[in-house]
Amino acid sequence: MTDQKSASTTLDGADDSSTSSNFIRNKIAHDLKENKHGGRVHTRFPPEPNGYLHIGHAKSICLNFGVAAENSGLCNLRFDDTNPEKESQEYVDAIKSNISWLGFQWNGDERYSSNYFEKLYEFAIQLIESGKAYVCDLSAAEAREYRGSLTEPGRNSPHRDRSIEENKELFARMRAGEFADGACSLRAKIDMASPNINMRDPVLYRIRHIVHHQTGSKWCIYPTYDYTHCLSDAIEGITHSLCTLEFEDHRPLYDWILNSLDIASIAAASDLANTDSDYVLPEQTEFAKLKLNYTIVGKRQLKEMVETNVVEGWDDPRMPTLAGMRRRGFTAAAIRNFCESVGVARSDSVVDLGMLEHAIRDDLDKTSPRAMCVLNPLTVVLTNLPDEHLENLSMANHPKNEEMGRRTVPLTKRVVIDRSDFEEVPPQGFKRLTAGGEVRLRGAYVIKCDDVIKDDAGNIIELHCSVDLDTLGKKPEGRKVKGVVHWVSETKGIALSVRLYDRLFTVENPESKDIEDFRECLNEDSLNELTSCLAEPAIMEEGASPRYQFEREGYYCLDEKASTENARIFNRTITLRDSW
Ligand code: ATP
Ligand code: MG
Repeated sequence: MTDQKSASTTLDGADDSSTSSNFIRNKIAHDLKENKHGGRVHTRFPPEPNGYLHIGHAKSICLNFGVAAENSGLCNLRFDDTNPEKESQEYVDAIKSNISWLGFQWNGDERYSSNYFEKLYEFAIQLIESGKAYVCDLSAAEAREYRGSLTEPGRNSPHRDRSIEENKELFARMRAGEFADGACSLRAKIDMASPNINMRDPVLYRIRHIVHHQTGSKWCIYPTYDYTHCLSDAIEGITHSLCTLEFEDHRPLYDWILNSLDIASIAAASDLANTDSDYVLPEQTEFAKLKLNYTIVGKRQLKEMVETNVVEGWDDPRMPTLAGMRRRGFTAAAIRNFCESVGVARSDSVVDLGMLEHAIRDDLDKTSPRAMCVLNPLTVVLTNLPDEHLENLSMANHPKNEEMGRRTVPLTKRVVIDRSDFEEVPPQGFKRLTAGGEVRLRGAYVIKCDDVIKDDAGNIIELHCSVDLDTLGKKPEGRKVKGVVHWVSETKGIALSVRLYDRLFTVENPESKDIEDFRECLNEDSLNELTSCLAEPAIMEEGASPRYQFEREGYYCLDEKASTENARIFNRTITLRDSW
């Protein structure tokens, strides 16, 4: 059908294993051994600035930046900005900040496909001059009809055989703004009978009189994604162009465009022009997109969720965006570990959300200092302590890591414990505080509940307990006390709110064909806020960590955006154990 000078490889049957080695790493190792790209590895991450990055993008980022770093190579950040209607500077800024946060540094300044518009225009003229592109006046609807279908070949456009001179003149007039949007387009002259619809004279340029976030009103014709992507790769000297599987059928077009141009002219327009590297065309290789159950990843749907106020913004902590996950308290290291553990394969699969949660817990367990915070406080008066009692107890910040130091936890006459840690009439097997029973205050003394104080309506308002002063760091004499509860000084504690998050969707596949609208399966309980929590004062000291394991409750992170000086809000990043 067409000549295939560049060396794209089909990797069917290649190693699909999901451990540290994967088919892309293997391919790159092989190419290096063969000295295929002059021993270079140069990748790129090419987001379209039409939304925030999500966890799926993290997989692509870790892969592109990862394989470059492992091979002493480079990775560019390139905004694929050929669709100005949907793009904006806000998205450009957010994407840059998310990638840095994830821990990656792109090569030099960020690039924009729009940086290359002038070069792309020159290459288009070269295609016209070699009889490989023409200006077509068919309307979008007509062009669709001429294109044929999966079962029927297309038909040649009546404008396909225009002379080179006429095409050059028309294309120049397109650029000069002489035609209205949609009046004509520049198309590649390939094969209207190709079984691959992408090869049926695809559009290379469209007319759009619209202001672009980078180029302003300089252009009124915009190159298509397919035309732009391969050439941007070629101009940047990319060796391995890694993309997701939906572009597999576009690969012949990627190769056709590059092979239809004079390679010396591409080399001369490229970043390698003044180096001694032998110029080699980039190669596209596809891998499977990351999909997660109970989650929607897809910028279009995420944007809809933001615009219809299903969530409070792109960085809502329930969103699978990097901005949302960061705000919720996920760490960059945990996300990178997760991306490594899901591996890179050539076939689509759905990853269990539990795997991401496991990676988060694993990292937070090691890195989060411990602290006590009572979410639903119940006052406990320690009756045998003097009113002004203030005892500074020293506690380890981490049970397994002494290097994380110790903190001071004040014990006063009035403390709080969680309401759920007291039962007047305990159910079977209840090991915490009961009327007349004993429990240990974590890191402090054993206390005994002598009196349950109630209001007129019978609600418990406080407990009166006596302290066994002989139990600090010691077992009580002659009896066993099994239960341990967390507590906070009522007088010294810090008031705060916590936001408890749960999965946004109640079904595994919110995008299933059986569900008309994802709103049908939203989890009504995905956000609960508790506003009268009390935490130990150490968490607000100068230089305190923004993240904690609130003992017996979960991992929490200060929400810097929602908090004010007087109202601190912590997000529950994740529970201690999987409750699903
Ligand atoms: P979406 O479907 O969310 O809009 P996209 O592919 O249109 O995603 P781009 O901005 O074009 O978004 O993506 C930038 C890069 O990230 C591309 O190389 C794309 O293939 C990759 N990517 C996007 N989604 C995923 C995903 N779920 N898993 C892995 N890589 C992804
Ligand atoms: Mg895209």
